Amino acid sequence: MTRVALIAHDDKKPEMIDLAQEHEELLEQYDLIATGTTGKRLMEETDLEIERKESGPLGGDMMIGAEVAEGILDGIVFLRDPLRAQAHEPDISALLRICDVHDTALATNLASAEYLLKGLADRPVHQDE
Ligand code: PGA
Repeated sequence: MTRVALIAHDDKKPEMIDLAQEHEELLEQYDLIATGTTGKRLMEETDLEIERKESGPLGGDMMIGAEVAEGILDGIVFLRDPLRAQAHEPDISALLRICDVHDTALATNLASAEYLLKGLADRPVHQDE
């Protein structure tokens, strides 16, 4: 099954919820994981089942990065807040880097997120599976 991670910084959580509600049928086809608060909010606002990792500032980005390194994640929608500094910026940079190392699909804004979510539906499941 295609495995997708969802992460949204605080000011971007409303956008993530709108995105998930709009594409709920599509997202139901995916094995979903998320950072802690993003996952909690998404499960409150949709009927999606989501495996929650730690909150981003507590290591959630790193847990998702570890899945990228293991080759078990097919794509990430990471709605970053480009206007606010984050205490866990090193973790964020590490996650972006490891996606590039492993050529893992990554969308960091809403416009590209829609392409990613739709595009993953048309693509074969991860080659390691
Ligand atoms: P959160 O983490 O979903 O637990 O808020 C996201 C982040 O800030 O990286």
